[in-house]
Amino acid sequence: MTYVLAIDIGGTKLAAALVDEEGSVLRSGTRPTPRTDVMSALRALIEEVTEDGPSPEAVGIGCAGPLDLAAGTVSPVNMPTWRGFPLRDEVRKLTGLPTVLAGDAQCFALGEHWLGAGRDSTALLGIVVSTGIGGGLVIDGMPLLGPTGNAGHVGHMSIDPSGERCECGGRGCVERYSSGPNLARWALDNGWSPAPGQADARALAEAAAAGDPVAVAAFERGARALAGMIASTAAAVEITTVVIGGGVSGAGKVLFDPLERMLDDVAGLAFVRAVRVHQSTLGVHAALAGAARLATLHA
Ligand SMILES: [Zn+2]
Repeated sequence: MTYVLAIDIGGTKLAAALVDEEGSVLRSGTRPTPRTDVMSALRALIEEVTEDGPSPEAVGIGCAGPLDLAAGTVSPVNMPTWRGFPLRDEVRKLTGLPTVLAGDAQCFALGEHWLGAGRDSTALLGIVVSTGIGGGLVIDGMPLLGPTGNAGHVGHMSIDPSGERCECGGRGCVERYSSGPNLARWALDNGWSPAPGQADARALAEAAAAGDPVAVAAFERGARALAGMIASTAAAVEITTVVIGGGVSGAGKVLFDPLERMLDDVAGLAFVRAVRVHQSTLGVHAALAGAARLATLHA
């Protein structure tokens, strides 16, 4: 049996696991992401999951973006002390092992493809819908990362070239319609009145499930934007399967039912209409599983 070391780096949590070639986790651990000196915390976490265990043969890292895979550097939005940080080389130096880096949403897609809802799909789009919207593509079992590692940024595909300006500088990005904060923002602008301090996507999902018409409309609007993006991606690269995770996917039926309807309305060509959408089955573990898969592909 060969083992790899999987690492998932986010703005709030660092996670690592020693994983075998079939995806079984031998050991795992987490740490809160410190404000400063993240490398020291990561070093301690790596020691915790590797000491006295079998030696891993490679390291796979999923990290919050933006990143530059050509350079092996990361600049996570929520980690201000890492700007152009040479994460891949630092981890390679620390472990002495071949080290592969990808975006966290790309690792989500790879994890769901390997062990989750997208298992054995020939062409998969993974989408993480939470504060923002990220994504990753897995084509013929391999991640499609792009020259600088930014392939799969589906949250910033425009579904309305005359639409609202997005924080990224673009216009009409799907994130402006379907991310958690934007779902809640639209609902509030249109008369949703949640309890004080409860104006988030989770409360909006509960309101939609209870039949609140504005909350239902907010999810239908968000689902229509996602459907446009999914149909466009399918037309471009012939994806057969979509797996959606992230906090907003926890809304369940109030998101996935309108999404099915909107896809039926938006999609035309037979191969686009054939795309199947699933909710994530690995949840918060998907990105770590994907990081392990990334390492096994390169071990
Ligand atoms: Zn954008």
